[in-house]
Amino acid sequence: MRLGIDIGGTTIKYGIVSNEGKIIESFSFDTKVNDGYLLIVNNIISQVLIIKEKYKIDSIGIGVPGIVDKNGEIVKNCPNLFWKNVTLGKDIEFKTGIKTYVENDANIALLAEHAFGNAKGYSDVIMLTLGTGVGGAAIVDGKLLKGSRGYGTEFGHIYVGENKNRCNCGKYGCLESFVSATGIIRYAQNLYDKNQISTRVKSAKQIFESEDTISKKAIERVGYYLAVGIGNLIQCFNPECVIIGGGLSGAKDKLLNSIERNISSQLGFFNKNDVEIAIAKWGNRAGIIGASILSEYRN
Ligand SMILES: [Zn+2]
Repeated sequence: MRLGIDIGGTTIKYGIVSNEGKIIESFSFDTKVNDGYLLIVNNIISQVLIIKEKYKIDSIGIGVPGIVDKNGEIVKNCPNLFWKNVTLGKDIEFKTGIKTYVENDANIALLAEHAFGNAKGYSDVIMLTLGTGVGGAAIVDGKLLKGSRGYGTEFGHIYVGENKNRCNCGKYGCLESFVSATGIIRYAQNLYDKNQISTRVKSAKQIFESEDTISKKAIERVGYYLAVGIGNLIQCFNPECVIIGGGLSGAKDKLLNSIERNISSQLGFFNKNDVEIAIAKWGNRAGIIGASILSEYRN
C-alpha cells in the first residue's frame, strides 16, 4: 500500500492507495495555514502514525502547491502556505520511518493521469491545472520534465497577451492572469460593474454555470487565452495529448468547447487532429492518486 498526501491552501487530503491506483480509504483536515510549517507537519505526522497502525505503507508521496527542487528534498516556495526552503520529505520520513517523496501538485496531477487516467499510454503529454492559480506539467519521452533545478514547466507564467493586472509572479501578461479563477472573476466582475449590473461574482464556477452575455464573453475569453497558451505549448513540445485539470476543469464541455473554437488559429504548421485536448479524469482525487505513485517516478 502507498499513502498519497495532497497539501492544498485550504485542505490537506490523504488516502491509502492500492498499487493499481484505487483509493482504499481517504481522509482530510483543514490546512490552517496560519499555524505555520511545524504545526502542520506535526499534524500530518500524527495522522501518518495512526494510519501506519492499520496499513503496511511502503512509501509516502506528497503534492504541494509550489516549487520543489529537482531531488524532491526541498520545498523552495509555496506562496499560499507561506513555506520557504522547508525539508518536508525528510521531516516526515524522520518521524515515521517511511520513505517520503515530494513533488509539485501539477506534476502530481499529470502523474495520476499518465498512470491511470486520460494520458495513459502516451509518451508526450502536457497538462494545465486551472484553479486559483494555473499550474503546468509535462511528460516528455515518458518522463516527467523538471528542468535543471526542478522549477520547469511553470506554464501558468508564459506570456499570452497584454494584461494590466500584474500576475503573482511579478510579470504582466501571464496565462494565469487571464485563465485562473482569480483572473476570470476579476474580468467578469469588471464587466458587470461597467454595465451597471449588480451581480457579485463569487466564483469562476458561477460564470461557467451562467448563460448571460457577460458570462459567455468571459468564457470565450478564457477559451481564447487558453488556446494561445496551448498553441505555444504544442509548438514547443509536439505532445500527443493536452490534459486540462484543476478545479475549473469541472466545467468540462463548456471549457473544452471554448478552447476548441479558438485553437485552430493558434497552431501554425501543426494539425489540430494530431493532438488530443482532454479534461482530466481524476478531478480532485488526482492529488492523492498521483502522490501515491511518486516513488515509481522518483526511482
Ligand atoms: Zn506570472
